[in-house]
Amino acid sequence: VALVVTRLRDQHVVLANERCAALFEVPLEEVVGQLTRDFYVVPEERDQVIGALIEQGHLDSALVRLKKRSGKEFWAELSGRIVELDGQRCSLVGIFDVTAQKDLEEQLRALATSDSLTGAANRRHFVEQAQRERERALRSGSPFSLCLFDADHFKGINDQYGHVAGDHVLSAMAAAARGALRVSDVLGRLGGEEFAMLLPDTELAGALVVAERVRAAVAAAEVQSGEVRAPDAPRSIRVTISIGVAERRGDEPLEALLKRADQALYAAKDLGRNRVHSS
Ligand code: GH3
Ligand code: MG
Ligand code: MG
Repeated sequence: VALVVTRLRDQHVVLANERCAALFEVPLEEVVGQLTRDFYVVPEERDQVIGALIEQGHLDSALVRLKKRSGKEFWAELSGRIVELDGQRCSLVGIFDVTAQKDLEEQLRALATSDSLTGAANRRHFVEQAQRERERALRSGSPFSLCLFDADHFKGINDQYGHVAGDHVLSAMAAAARGALRVSDVLGRLGGEEFAMLLPDTELAGALVVAERVRAAVAAAEVQSGEVRAPDAPRSIRVTISIGVAERRGDEPLEALLKRADQALYAAKDLGRNRVHSS
């Protein structure tokens, strides 16, 4: 465990073990006299740590961002108590580097909320986000729109190029759509080659513009195929999508809004595909 003793009065380090010196990349002989403020990323977090030590006399697993001498930042958990050393009030603090744990948490969160092939939100996470947006929109009276899209004749792509190429096309489709959206918009993969887009603060007219931009971006994207099953199929694969768009109406449930977008999607398919239709 990295341990450091700091004088409370002026926040000078008076003692630290080798582990602590190594953690902060400070030579052991230079440890004494260092200032804690040079090792905190957020000054307010340092104030909170000192405040807790002074008020409660101890600190239990405080999560803070620290930095090494090189400037490299890391997540740390601090636990400690007030001690007296040579008649001076000091804090004795143990420092645990929890960066690996934090990274793992982040990876687990990404796995639980996104689709591994395309990186889009998975169905459950997309629906959660849409429910939250619906509630927010009802409170604030703001509009929002939902789009559903489905690849056109995707069975044909799998038949001509194989499933692996089909999967590459799905990733490229999602990337093209993502690139045509705003950061605050949410792209979700509802299943198979069916995707959804949540457009906050967007009325129908604006959503139609966005949907058309997404349609054109996907139609322009190309994927090079390694394997061609049909001898006359071109090596570069292109795919088009049909999109159904619907804007929130009053306090209709999310299911009803999704259903209207789905009906619009089917109308777009019926009208010849590679197009945007609204409900
Ligand atoms: P339509 O224009 O009417 O949508 O025609 P379609 O051939 O795309 O028909 P539909 O949407 O009903 O079929 C989807 C096909 O997409 C079926 C399945 O073989 C394929 N598919 C679904 N999920 C995946 C996937 O994860 N990877 C690959 N490679 N293919 C998939
Ligand atoms: Mg399809
Ligand atoms: Mg489909």
